[in-house]
Amino acid sequence: MKEIILVKYGEMALKGQNKGTFEDILFKNIKYRLKSMGKFSYSRAQSTIYIEPMEENILPDEVIDRLKKVFGIATLCKACVCEKDFSDVSAKAIEYLRETLEDAKSFKVEAKRADKTFPMKSPEICSELGGILAENYPHLTVDVHNPEITVIADIRDTNAYVYADKIRGAGGLPLGSSGKAMLLLSGGIDSPVAGYMMAKRGIHISAIHFVSPPYTSDRALLKVEELCQKMTDYCGDIRFYCVPFTKIQEQLKLRCPEEYFTILMRRLMMIIAQEIAKKDDNVALITGESVGQVASQTMQAMVCTDAVCHIPVFRPCIGLDKTEIIEIARKIDTFDISVQPYEDCCTVFTPRHPKIRPQLEQIEKAQEKGNFAELIQEAVDGTEMKVFRVNL
Ligand code: ATP
Ligand code: MG
Repeated sequence: MKEIILVKYGEMALKGQNKGTFEDILFKNIKYRLKSMGKFSYSRAQSTIYIEPMEENILPDEVIDRLKKVFGIATLCKACVCEKDFSDVSAKAIEYLRETLEDAKSFKVEAKRADKTFPMKSPEICSELGGILAENYPHLTVDVHNPEITVIADIRDTNAYVYADKIRGAGGLPLGSSGKAMLLLSGGIDSPVAGYMMAKRGIHISAIHFVSPPYTSDRALLKVEELCQKMTDYCGDIRFYCVPFTKIQEQLKLRCPEEYFTILMRRLMMIIAQEIAKKDDNVALITGESVGQVASQTMQAMVCTDAVCHIPVFRPCIGLDKTEIIEIARKIDTFDISVQPYEDCCTVFTPRHPKIRPQLEQIEKAQEKGNFAELIQEAVDGTEMKVFRVNL
């Protein structure tokens, strides 16, 4: 039996005038994800994209697996292609839905009749097909209000389709539909989750990572690159910027009060990140901070950090508990990479007694003492970029 894949949009279907643009971006993203699998034929109607594999060796389950990580998709399902003839629809439904129906207790049939010339009207299709399925699967009861399984007979222009199982998609908005932002990516658990959450809202992310060799090792950088590669599963292709941060950190240590290290370091990272972001049309920064998690993540510390920012800083993990962040990290498969024990430049120079409620004025004075302008420029100039692409 020939199968196709149906993709239904999520909330973007509600976005009024933007709908067309959202659909186009989603459509493009889907094609990009599937291109390497072979040839497909696509058609669109009523907030659904119909994807028909045009080569024998394409496995619908693999298509589904790839599309499960594409934002903007609410649900996915495999459907059986039938002739536009009720006897074929019912015969195929009996066969195609066997496993699903055998495992269920109750069901109902819904008909979609885009082709208004089809000789049977929707209620008739429902009752006839419902009767036939009930006859073939006598353990099933029909429950029109709260069925375990909804069987759909979809009568379209050239074919009819039968399907039942809906698989939940990644939700959110299509990547790129909300513009671009720059994620400060550490090797930790939180920042990959933050990137995922913003990408889910349609933001195409770039990543920036600060390294301090020889205090941080090559292996630590490799870990972050591995994280970045993993993130492409959901976030699409990512431009990854690696900033040499050693000299700035050494200068910090030399010239600034130890209790302000972390906060000054965070401010300097933000300054550099904004410079790089500008070059790449990123209109905001993203971090993995969550209120109160560590000394540099008190509200007062964030006030001090944001004082050097002239673009918005998104912190999607801000109100999440660590356990909630970990749950997402596991879901997107970054957790196991994040917990590999390699040093981050932040941890290399952690002060013994960080200021928990820093005052902006003192922080600014301390930063002036460091005289960082030239080193900042040097770090920006020394930044290297590489692109991580979705593994297809
Ligand atoms: P994470 O789990 O994301 O590392 P964390 O709880 O360890 O977060 P911090 O180390 O205080 O928190 O870092 C806070 C945020 O600062 C990170 O979420 C990340 O966005 C950014 N950050 C920290 N270190 C780096 C780095 N070396 N390069 C880029 N960004 C960093
Ligand atoms: Mg960290």
